[in-house]
Amino acid sequence: MRKVYLDHSATTPVHPEVADLMMQYLTSTWGNPSSIHAFGREARKGVEEARERVAGLIGAKPEEIFFTSGGTEADNMAVLGTAYAKQKKGNHIIASSFEHHAVLDPCKFLEKQGYRVTFLPVTPEGLVRVEDVEAAITDQTILITIMHVNNEVGTIQPIEEIGRLAKTRGITFHTDAVQSAGKIPVDVNALQVDLMTVSAHKIYGPKGIGCLYVRKGTRLEPITHGGGQERKRRPGTENVPGMVGFGKAAELAARELDSESARLTVLRDKLIDGLMNRVDHVRLNGHRTKRIPTNVNVSIEFVEGESILLSMDMHGIGASSGSACTSGSLDPSHVLLAMGIPYEVAHGSLRMTLGRDNTEEDVKYVLEVLPGIIERLRAMSPLAQQKTAPVGKECCTSV
Ligand SMILES: *Cc1c(COP(=O)(O)O)cnc(C)c1O
Repeated sequence: MRKVYLDHSATTPVHPEVADLMMQYLTSTWGNPSSIHAFGREARKGVEEARERVAGLIGAKPEEIFFTSGGTEADNMAVLGTAYAKQKKGNHIIASSFEHHAVLDPCKFLEKQGYRVTFLPVTPEGLVRVEDVEAAITDQTILITIMHVNNEVGTIQPIEEIGRLAKTRGITFHTDAVQSAGKIPVDVNALQVDLMTVSAHKIYGPKGIGCLYVRKGTRLEPITHGGGQERKRRPGTENVPGMVGFGKAAELAARELDSESARLTVLRDKLIDGLMNRVDHVRLNGHRTKRIPTNVNVSIEFVEGESILLSMDMHGIGASSGSACTSGSLDPSHVLLAMGIPYEVAHGSLRMTLGRDNTEEDVKYVLEVLPGIIERLRAMSPLAQQKTAPVGKECCTSV
């Protein structure tokens, strides 16, 4: 059976060149980078080279990159670290309501400690409005955190405009760029951010490593305390194989960005158009063009996302859905609900995220298999009896 992986926003396979380099740091160059002897110095060299490569991907200086255990830790460092560092200045934070849980949950944690958080609404097309950010700012606002690209619907947020706004008001600005770095051009100066999160395993690097970019001069309180590593911002003996793997992945992503984004945009559009043409009552979630080249997210009415996933899995296709089964909850995704998509429609959502190993043949195969799956499920579904009257109001981009 053909195997097609369409879940690259969940994680990516490690690039062979990344794995090779990591193996070298697991077996030969295994020293502690803090040691002064040659064993340690060689490991240190690997770490600093990795830092340069990661910095290169996002237009930063190497000394502004702080390695973490991944995107989640970097998001926590940004949100909590800013709140604690600036608590004398104010207690108000602005976030979008469809941030990743790695940002939402630290914000909610801060609310319990007396901070105030404004969770901004998003448009039905999955975009944060700059006017809404501006209107939410008070003299107590210390942090704005808005993701660059949403992980479920792939929409690209107006980070540059928000960055300009934050800068003129003297507010720290963080963006979670886990889903944008390596897929579209990302530059910390063009985007005018103070803090930026990147994760290795979303760009063909290993899991358990990421970084927080911290612009020079940005106030940030560490959230872990221990040794002096990462200039005390993130202590703990370095994950050297992870760091060099992340560095290599960043270098490869930067090199292949233009060609891959062009190639994947074509595949993405073929998948979207093919599905729309072959199946009724399908709507695209998220703005059609302000979206990364790898993301397809559709709501397929009168079927359950989970059922589609299981049937796709039986055909060798790995995708994901907007019913957050991963969190053990039956509620549909907070992202789709934030976009105003009705509960029942959100339940029938399907996310397919493309990556470097996907080909035209893969897209053809999915378009052959998927309409049949949907038809079968609809034939069995009690939801399909409502088929004559589409559920909910027209709230998404219909193409
Ligand atoms: C995957 C992801 C994270 C979490 O990164 P980890 O390295 O898995 O902890 C954070 N934000 C976004 C947008 C993501 O897609």
